Amino acid sequence: MIRARKQFGQHFLEPVWVDKVIAAIDPRADQDFIEIGPGPGALTRPLAQRAKSVTAFEIDRDLAAALVDEAIPNLTVIAGDFLSRSISDFALPTSHLRAAGNLPYNVASPIMFKLVELHAAGVPLVDATLMLQREVADRLVAPPGSKQYGVLSVLIQHAADVEAVLKLPAGAFRPPPKVLSSLVRLRFRAPNPPVRDHALFGRLVQAVFTRRRKTLANALLALDGFGPPPPVRPPEALAAAGIDGSRRPETLSIAEFVRLADSYVPVTRAVL
Ligand code: SAM
Repeated sequence: MIRARKQFGQHFLEPVWVDKVIAAIDPRADQDFIEIGPGPGALTRPLAQRAKSVTAFEIDRDLAAALVDEAIPNLTVIAGDFLSRSISDFALPTSHLRAAGNLPYNVASPIMFKLVELHAAGVPLVDATLMLQREVADRLVAPPGSKQYGVLSVLIQHAADVEAVLKLPAGAFRPPPKVLSSLVRLRFRAPNPPVRDHALFGRLVQAVFTRRRKTLANALLALDGFGPPPPVRPPEALAAAGIDGSRRPETLSIAEFVRLADSYVPVTRAVL
């Protein structure tokens, strides 16, 4: 029996849940997959059986080596931290790449941001079906004004359509985590609406949600602590975006966040 390593967020999917999760992923014979955290391979084997190829990234070198030893024909195992892979590791011979993974919950958000970043950098990622802590899944789909609406909601919904596809109890995993789980699907697309400076947009969203109970006029001051202080000050930015500075950050729609971020980036050249 494999001992789960806590530092790698290992909670292995129980066999009775595998078919349900695979049905939700719905792999097809002409599709290429990356899998994040294959572990002992509960999802990897059926994925490799049904899909054209699977490239699996596993940080635990013992588990990675055990999967390599199985010599599954269309499976490539890459041992190491998924988060430190460079874009060249994703230069796979495909124009339609899907992602799947029962994610380590301690690094689920950075993994999702990495997937968004890879998509933005031109990796042909179509979608990702990911197992998450239920609370994180709820934040992903949260609408403006709700308690769960925050950085994750804005930045992921800006880059992908998000859908919750399956709920799982703690007992679906061994050892059972202390939390409930949900399987979600992110469908990547062009950022909507487009934003002039993506990095600044990310910093602004993170900054204002550190002061989610304050007014926007006040919360925007937090941006000074997230990289070089912008030359535009909050009152000018808010006026340019046509947004009332007495509103709370959590009430802004994604389009309003984009407008606000764009008002920090004056258009210097007219596009003809
Ligand atoms: N897919 C297996 C399953 O469903 O039974 C294992 C899922 S377990 C929740 C998460 C897996 O991700 C573990 O195998 C763990 O070692 C691996 N992992 C954790 N952090 C990782 C990282 N940064 N990069 C790649 N794999 C990671």
